Amino acid sequence: MAGKRDYYEVLGVPKTSDEKEIKKAYRKLARKFHPDVNPGDKDAERKFKEIGEAYDVLSDVKKRGMYDQFGHAAFDQGQSDGFRPGAGAGGFRYEYGPGGGRSAGFRPEDFEGFAHGGAAGFGAGGFDDILSGLFGGRSAGFGPSGPMKGEDTSTTMEVNFEDALFGTTAQLNLRREVPCASCGGTGTQPGTAPRNCPDCGGTGQIKGGRGMFSINRTCPRCGGAGNVKEACRTCGGSGYVPKAENLTVKIPPGVDNGSKVRLPGMGGPGVNGGPPGDLYIVTRVRRHPYFERRDDDLYSEIPITFSEAALGAKVDVPTKDGIVTMTIPPGTQSGQEFRLRGKGAPHLGKAGAGDQYVRVKVAVPSSLSEHAKSALRDFMSHAPQNPRAGIGFSGFRRGKGAA
Ligand SMILES: [Zn+2]
Ligand SMILES: [Zn+2]
Repeated sequence: MAGKRDYYEVLGVPKTSDEKEIKKAYRKLARKFHPDVNPGDKDAERKFKEIGEAYDVLSDVKKRGMYDQFGHAAFDQGQSDGFRPGAGAGGFRYEYGPGGGRSAGFRPEDFEGFAHGGAAGFGAGGFDDILSGLFGGRSAGFGPSGPMKGEDTSTTMEVNFEDALFGTTAQLNLRREVPCASCGGTGTQPGTAPRNCPDCGGTGQIKGGRGMFSINRTCPRCGGAGNVKEACRTCGGSGYVPKAENLTVKIPPGVDNGSKVRLPGMGGPGVNGGPPGDLYIVTRVRRHPYFERRDDDLYSEIPITFSEAALGAKVDVPTKDGIVTMTIPPGTQSGQEFRLRGKGAPHLGKAGAGDQYVRVKVAVPSSLSEHAKSALRDFMSHAPQNPRAGIGFSGFRRGKGAA
């Protein structure tokens, strides 16, 4: 395996790169050296293979770990631990499945994956995906490693009970990541070219080692790439900058605890030039001293007098739309519920509304004048009543005699 280039160097990524960076670098290079773009160019073809091989290893956590530890030796044939890159179902790993509509003139079997790993080949899906980005060969949209929509994010917002019923506009101070305008999201300072790494002189390797072994290790400064880029001064090389925004958010009528209000394009930044994700505002509705809300129905309680309950009455009841007069029929019991149709919370995003349930509670006077007391006794003599007659239960047998 002598003369093999360091995989990190091949992809031009630092050793500390995460999966995303590696994938991004791979796709960029694969496009550049793709055989369809460079017909008949043997050098490009060789590079293309090299890139694919490097990606196969670095995109696989296990293989990458082996590689980091042992270098190319990890993949030499005849190894005893059974680790064989390219053995089995092809040396290249793609998350996406094989797709149809391959671009004409390109046969994936022309290109081997792992040159030294056996009969590895590109999975069909992988190229289609790349090709679709290059030539627009597929209309089904982007694969997972093409331009990707940014992450959807969410934030919680407290909403007044009333605002939840009627809707409102609210101000939201949002801090989110957007692509850096200075470097166009590349992370490299504009107008600067990558220069040879001063630590390794461009080889990406540093000679060294301890004890009896002399080991070339990957240059920590350039991560094996052999060159260093000047980080964009605006974003520090990340390609993204934080942006503080004050948004006016429309909260529609009917939101409840856990309702989600979507703000398109206000989520995480897109990947590989993809659109940004969405922001979801999750509402939390504050409690109200008078109303209780269950789904879209509102519940309230109204006290009435014994006389009103017995004789019937018209009572004023607060609703979300103001006072309405509710008829209490004669003989109403304490705890009885009456429904006011359509006086509940509006259905979110739909026509109509829930109902309001009004529970009456007979309020008993806590102190009475002598005159009122005698009037009540007089009443009782006129209307003898045993409200407990219908209970039909006289206690548990085992509880007998306990009292
Ligand atoms: Zn920048
Ligand atoms: Zn270096």
